[in-house]
Amino acid sequence: MRRQDTPKLVATVARLREEIVAARRGKRAIGFVPTMGALHEGHLSLVRAARNECDYTVVSIFVNPSQFGPGEDFSKYPRTLEADLDLLAGCGVDLAFVPAGEEVYRPGHDTWVEVGAAAEPLDGQCRPGHFRGVATAVLKLLNMVQPDAAYFGQKDYQQALVIRRMAADLDLPTAIRVCPIVREPDGLAMSSRNRYLTPAARQRAIVLWKSLQLAGELVEQGERDARTIAARMREVIEIAEDARIDYVALVDSETLQPVETIAGPTLAALAVKIENTRLIDNCILKSEE
Ligand code: AMP
Repeated sequence: MRRQDTPKLVATVARLREEIVAARRGKRAIGFVPTMGALHEGHLSLVRAARNECDYTVVSIFVNPSQFGPGEDFSKYPRTLEADLDLLAGCGVDLAFVPAGEEVYRPGHDTWVEVGAAAEPLDGQCRPGHFRGVATAVLKLLNMVQPDAAYFGQKDYQQALVIRRMAADLDLPTAIRVCPIVREPDGLAMSSRNRYLTPAARQRAIVLWKSLQLAGELVEQGERDARTIAARMREVIEIAEDARIDYVALVDSETLQPVETIAGPTLAALAVKIENTRLIDNCILKSEE
């Protein structure tokens, strides 16, 4: 039996629109958190941010096929709807929008968002077409829900940047909010993909956070050379013997272009496969000068 405060579960755009019209009639500000499910505290932190700022909270759960490349984990991506709804019930979510694939990509779907320079480096290089799929799905969901504000995590820093850029360039009326990364007690960034890891690999995965911490410490100690910092970060990651590094990058936090020297706000970003599970993490490095 589900609890009383369970969100209304809606699977079609038509039903969603009816609920949104009713919420709007009550002049309620609508907050929206798009997710792919397998929810954890990171997602719930976004829900809480939405609840703080808005009167009516919508969470979508949709594993978006168009952002997965061939050979990626679309078919095995964790789908845990019952547990997700229980978690959302505890957070005062008003509506869970859980569409099927063909409700979002109807037959004949043939229009895509063309993303620009922010989508090119880092994950854009490693996962061709990924951000085109993300941007298209997010734009569609924003058009379906028409929220006042939508909430994203800094965990997917480049994704949030691509979405902020899209919202600005396409004059979207929704405010885009980006919330801090939620971590496990040992520092590993929470992620739905962490559940792929065996206990031993889960232990090794803390090298991602350790390497980001080291980068912060080096900058604090006065190191400004990006190559030196990246090399030291790699050493830490390689302590996990099966780690395969997709990238360890120090880039301008707005343009995502590589920096040689840490002068302004710099993003340290990494993507690493541990036991074949691809994990990403990042932090902002700030030099005091
Ligand atoms: P996903 O379900 O992985 O597509 O993530 C849905 C949203 O939750 C995205 O905006 C993510 O950036 C955000 N998110 C995922 N993990 C975390 C985390 N550990 N901390 C904060 N936000 C997160």
